[in-house]
Amino acid sequence: MTTLLVRHASILVTMDDHRREIPEGGLFIRDGFIEQVGPSAELPATADETLDLSGHIVLPGLINTHHHFYQTLTRAVPAAQDANLFNWLKTLYPIWARMTPGDIYTSTQTALAELALSGCTTASDHLYLFPNGSRLDDEIQAALQLGLRLHASRGSMSLGESKGGLPPDSVVEDEQAILKDSQRLIETYHDPNPGAMTQVVLAPCSPFSVTGELMRESASIAREFGVHLHTHLAETQDEEEFCLQKVGYRPVAYMEIVNWLGPDVWFAHSVHVNREEMRIFGQAAVGVAHCPSSNMRLASGIAPIQEMLQWGVHVGLGVDGSASNDGSHMLGEVRQAMLVARLKAGLQGASLSNESAPPLMTARQALEIATRGGASVLGRSDIGSLEAGKCADFFAINLNRLEFAGALHDPVAAMVFCAPVQSDYTVVGGKFIVKEGQLATLDLGKLIEKHNRAANRLLVG
Ligand SMILES: [Zn+2]
Repeated sequence: MTTLLVRHASILVTMDDHRREIPEGGLFIRDGFIEQVGPSAELPATADETLDLSGHIVLPGLINTHHHFYQTLTRAVPAAQDANLFNWLKTLYPIWARMTPGDIYTSTQTALAELALSGCTTASDHLYLFPNGSRLDDEIQAALQLGLRLHASRGSMSLGESKGGLPPDSVVEDEQAILKDSQRLIETYHDPNPGAMTQVVLAPCSPFSVTGELMRESASIAREFGVHLHTHLAETQDEEEFCLQKVGYRPVAYMEIVNWLGPDVWFAHSVHVNREEMRIFGQAAVGVAHCPSSNMRLASGIAPIQEMLQWGVHVGLGVDGSASNDGSHMLGEVRQAMLVARLKAGLQGASLSNESAPPLMTARQALEIATRGGASVLGRSDIGSLEAGKCADFFAINLNRLEFAGALHDPVAAMVFCAPVQSDYTVVGGKFIVKEGQLATLDLGKLIEKHNRAANRLLVG
């Protein structure tokens, strides 16, 4: 049994049901779970380890619901810088086809290091290419070493160019092999218990890279084993046209046909959804991973997040990428979510001061999407807020810094309105992943060097 006492935080944001923000707040943690939350004076006086967070804000760890860690190897690739999704993919598929198991391991650690340093404590990753003997196992091992919670999505592509899909035949897999490996991964790694460090998700890549049969079969295995389902959906108009032409339905109707609407499903993007489709999402309690930077980067559009929330859709935040962002900064993504929601509101008349103008997303709403929202999207009740019984996952930021100068009348809003900063402490299950601003679980300098070597090798070919 080990205990950790966190105290004297300038403000502690709980994101509990009452959205309490506690001045002079703290946490008492036992064996990775929060035992008490409250003003420091009401907590036990001693513990095995004590962390004084005077001058810091403490927030629940951010939850990243969509990413492709391996793409950190191909950030800002010149030929893919100014392309839309389909052209971007066609440029990058051949480069990704050169990846090795070691590249998957290295890029996972790079992405997770960046996430941890931006306040993230749980990340979902979507790996859908397995070239040269790569396996999802490589990613899972890398995450366990770094110490962030991982929802590892066993992605897949089976519809190559010769069968009318977008990816080249060289990067697609046989459907029976995909399904067999999916089951193996669930049986080997999926932990359904509170405090799980690893969960497995089944995630055929997108409507334009797999068959309807693989979607149906994946759903059937996921439901047999009680794991979640994830895919890209309604990201671009190209995708909508592909679905209409090839299967005769819009993307959301297609999902209904392949049995992919339910509380165990979440979709990345969902930019191009109409009112009726949002109603269907809300009714089916599906989740959406909102990826604002990626949607702007690839000119995909602006997801109607405010409307989705009104329809009761579970919405989380994802950095996506990292070749379509090209960063993994979760706090930065919270800021993007707030700003782009306001741009959308502006396009719908919010710049007119009248009563029918749509409301603006607040900083606290954006933070809520990245915490409680992410937990609901991933189907977890043990993370997303700082409450007794939940995982001790939080991050802390020193408020005494240039970026927040002049904004300390509301430090919570400052986290979103001001320029994104790095976390000073990131803690997962009571363990320090970032301590005093430094990554605590691996040597960052060596990792960057190794990562750059791998990236260079992939591009040169
Ligand atoms: Zn994606």
